[in-house]
Amino acid sequence: MKRIGVLTSGGDAPGMNAAVRAVTRKAIYHGLEVYGIYHGYQGLMEGDIKRLELGSVGDIIQRGGTTLFSARCPEFKTREGQLQGIEQLKKHGIDALVVIGGDGSYMGAKALTEHGFPCIGVPGTIDNDIPGTEFTIGFDTALNTVIDAIDKIRDTATSHERTYVIEVMGRNAGDIALWAGLSGGAETIMIPEEDHDIEDVVAKLKRGHERGKKHSIIVVAEGVGSGVEIGKKIEEMTSFDTRVTVLGHVQRGGSPTAADRVLASRLGAKAVELLLEGKGGRAVGIEKNELVDYDIIEALGRPHKIDDKMYQLSQELSI
Ligand code: ATP
Repeated sequence: MKRIGVLTSGGDAPGMNAAVRAVTRKAIYHGLEVYGIYHGYQGLMEGDIKRLELGSVGDIIQRGGTTLFSARCPEFKTREGQLQGIEQLKKHGIDALVVIGGDGSYMGAKALTEHGFPCIGVPGTIDNDIPGTEFTIGFDTALNTVIDAIDKIRDTATSHERTYVIEVMGRNAGDIALWAGLSGGAETIMIPEEDHDIEDVVAKLKRGHERGKKHSIIVVAEGVGSGVEIGKKIEEMTSFDTRVTVLGHVQRGGSPTAADRVLASRLGAKAVELLLEGKGGRAVGIEKNELVDYDIIEALGRPHKIDDKMYQLSQELSI
């Protein structure tokens, strides 16, 4: 193996740059050449590929987003699109590819591997919803952004004695809501992995009100439904002054936290190690603070699970 490529795909996440840097520097350290593929699989099909040197990835470890850019590319789901991508890789003399992205991006990496081109998947998404790893790159940063928002909303909630519903991202996973709700001291956390009865939510709010609580914070994962609708229902059922904040894309931006930079550096380097060992079709991850890797297909087949004990704890602490 002489030359490897690296791309970022799907939704961007803080820490993707740190992962690109780690892939690039680790590979160069071991005598490989590295090529950056711009705009994800779209750029791969179009041959938007440039050599990365040590300096190309300088001054990016602290930057949010992805300097390789990202894209959604439906054509890459077709056999023709994938073969066109492989043709471009071969044209540039690239022997293997590191894909940094979410589960959709993993499907692309899996398809390339099945066509005989070795790829490694690195989990990059704020949603923390990728099987085969306890944490994804970007999750910690998004979490800190959400907590910062909750703390600020709590100040105004107390001043006005209001109920606040805060809708957070996470697609079909409740990880952001659970971790942010627990660390932000939310009264109620609504996640798609659990059943929620609005009557129970309202009863808890009323109990809090009766014992003199000045405000209530309810964190809703987007996978549960619209925070706006939930807020309306709560106001109707309690007649408490209720406001809704949908945090939206602010959660995807910002400088990555130290934890995300370290995770990205470790996972990016691990991906290169696997390629140096001649392994393709793997997905890297972290479990109990140890780096792990799985067959990419096996990894995708594992169900993503919420931490039940943490959910139970959040219930007990917000009684
Ligand atoms: P996030 O969940 O953070 O948005 P993601 O990687 O899951 O990230 P997707 O839009 O699902 O985002 O996938 C990114 C890209 O991966 C797609 O635009 C497409 O090019 C490629 N891709 C997705 N599914 C497949 C598939 N089944 N086969 C081949 N390529 C795929």
